[in-house]
Amino acid sequence: QVKHSGRHGLRFFTAAMQQKAARHLQLVNALRYALEREQMHVVYQPQMSLIERRIVGAEALLRWSTPELGTVSPAEFIPAAEESGLIQSIGTWVLRQAVRQARAWLDLGLPPIVMAVNLSAIQFRNRELPALITRILDEEGLPPEYLELELTEAVAAHDPQGAIAIMNELHERGVRMSIDDFGTGFSSLSHLKKFKVYKLKIDQSFVRDISTDAEDKAIVSAIINMARSLGLKTIAEGVETAEQLAFLRAQQCDEMQGYYFSKPVQPAAFQQLSLEMAAKDL
Ligand code: C2E
Ligand code: MG
Ligand code: MG
Ligand code: MG
Repeated sequence: QVKHSGRHGLRFFTAAMQQKAARHLQLVNALRYALEREQMHVVYQPQMSLIERRIVGAEALLRWSTPELGTVSPAEFIPAAEESGLIQSIGTWVLRQAVRQARAWLDLGLPPIVMAVNLSAIQFRNRELPALITRILDEEGLPPEYLELELTEAVAAHDPQGAIAIMNELHERGVRMSIDDFGTGFSSLSHLKKFKVYKLKIDQSFVRDISTDAEDKAIVSAIINMARSLGLKTIAEGVETAEQLAFLRAQQCDEMQGYYFSKPVQPAAFQQLSLEMAAKDL
């Protein structure tokens, strides 16, 4: 398109770029005050075990709205927080909230669940991360086995040796790690050998058409079988239909997460679900 539109097309492209840069600046400026203005909160999405037939985990997902910008999607503000460095303070805040929530649910006597928190690759470059996480767990009184960190393959892109060192340290401290969006990154298989990973989260792009697309079927069952041979657990993301559930069950996928069970919800609704879901026919 640009090829045929010449100078006009070039000008259009520049305008789009300018708009993008302006939006980025707007987000970063607003993000600086997001926490002190109490504009962020965390919602929780259940992770179901097909064997135990109950909620065994919760994924903490960050939400942000401001009077000026309305609700901004994490897909848009997380990259802005990463590029500006604000992800360090925001990420620490999410960890604290999620760990505190997990402790509160244990205190309430809910069936025990593992709290999964997404970690940016930028947070993972911080050598103090294991100490920071241990401090939060200690201060909130949560045993480390109740925390799981969801990492993407991007953690290894910048400094693989550094990433391995941090993973080893977290592993020694008893914190579990899973690979999020598994199958979408680079050289997934070589990472698995070196990283102290506990679980693979099969990316929702493979799950979406699992009932109709033969290739997606093959990819998902290959991931599940490989994980089993390596002694890793699997969880499928983005499960929306009974057909998807049936296929994943037949493949003996360990856990599932998606709108079929529940959207991410506020803590009070999560508590309700964790009692109701025990009764839901899986
Ligand atoms: P993710 O970690 O892969 O999270 C899964 C995303 O899929 C979430 O989107 C969730 O709401 C959505 N989802 C869950 N079930 C379904 C389903 O059945 N169908 C569909 N279509 N979508 C489903 P969300 O909350 O918008 O988050 C998007 C991404 O933003 C996350 O992807 C994660 O990479 C990032 N993110 C969210 N919260 C945090 C955070 O606290 N820290 C960091 N570093 N990243 C975060
Ligand atoms: Mg995740
Ligand atoms: Mg994911
Ligand atoms: Mg994702």
